[in-house]
Amino acid sequence: MSANTLFLRLEGSLQAWGDQHSKFVIRRTADAPTKSGVIGMLCAGLGVSRPTAPESWLPRLSRLRMGVRIDQPGVRWWDYHTVGAGMPMRTAEGGTKQGAMLTRREYLCDASFLIALQGEPDLIAELEAAIKAPKWTIYLGRKSCPPSRPLLEHPPGNFPDLLSALKSVPWRERLKGDPRPQTVECLLDWERTEEQPEAPDEALIWYDVPVTFDPPSHQPRFVIRQQLQVGPDGDVTLAASAAQSETPPPPRPRADYANTEYKDRRRKRLNFDYGLCVFCKSPATTVQHVTYRRAGGNELADDLRSLCRLCHDAVTMIEYGLGMGLDRINPEEPRWRDLINEKRAEIVKFRSLETRRRHLVAEEVE
Ligand SMILES: [Zn+2]
Repeated sequence: MSANTLFLRLEGSLQAWGDQHSKFVIRRTADAPTKSGVIGMLCAGLGVSRPTAPESWLPRLSRLRMGVRIDQPGVRWWDYHTVGAGMPMRTAEGGTKQGAMLTRREYLCDASFLIALQGEPDLIAELEAAIKAPKWTIYLGRKSCPPSRPLLEHPPGNFPDLLSALKSVPWRERLKGDPRPQTVECLLDWERTEEQPEAPDEALIWYDVPVTFDPPSHQPRFVIRQQLQVGPDGDVTLAASAAQSETPPPPRPRADYANTEYKDRRRKRLNFDYGLCVFCKSPATTVQHVTYRRAGGNELADDLRSLCRLCHDAVTMIEYGLGMGLDRINPEEPRWRDLINEKRAEIVKFRSLETRRRHLVAEEVE
């Protein structure tokens, strides 16, 4: 039977997998290869240029199912990088020099990832050939990050799902003397099935399915985290805790809105904020829990923030995307400012006019 799964070994002294927060002067890396990063590598192998990719290859490549096994998470590290942007930069003599701007770039050092890509056997064979004899240079997310081992270290195979594919390849050390971990983490594309028509609560949302490269635009996907156990010989099996995934996850923290004590605290916070959204100063219609640690009537005044519907939706989307737990976003903190603005704009753009009208109607403020 022809193979439906391509394995890629992504290993090197440096890797960088920029996500949607990686823009302009501070370019961070995600903790594992992104789907757009891996598809970008495949395009380099195929010799597909950024402008032509959306028409020719991206629709097919985006449908590949992707699983990542984090064999070595690596260490995060910063570097700086000058880019020409017509901005004056200070010189040692105290003057200014035109044409350079400093950017900060983050890398993962000495990380090792095993990628499994599943799809139609014809496509898998074509991609294998492209990686074997790439048209353009293949690098690990950024041009300064060459791979240190052959990408096709593990031959393609046929597997019923991503997890069984990732279990079939033994763990091995990246550098001599690397301690063998007890478990390794996997990040798997979630797929709708009849048994599981909705993504589980613990699913993360990654905005990294490429629609276009130039300019970069992405669609979201659901990602499931799964632990695998590493045996003494490097054999990889389902972790014991995975059996517990059969039991339902604990309920999401949710304040009891019927609770009089909670209603009182909510009203007090709205009064404290003069009934205005702490983010945009529109009339507040709801309160945000900065933490759920005392939710349901024991909240401190500082656990809550008044928000309008639009800002609340934006904040909730960000929290969901980050898979946050009990402690949530404080919309007054400057570090969230750009992201909240970005999400607000996204919501306004994508909501139907009807929905937007509805949100413009003054809502009841307690
Ligand atoms: Zn607001």
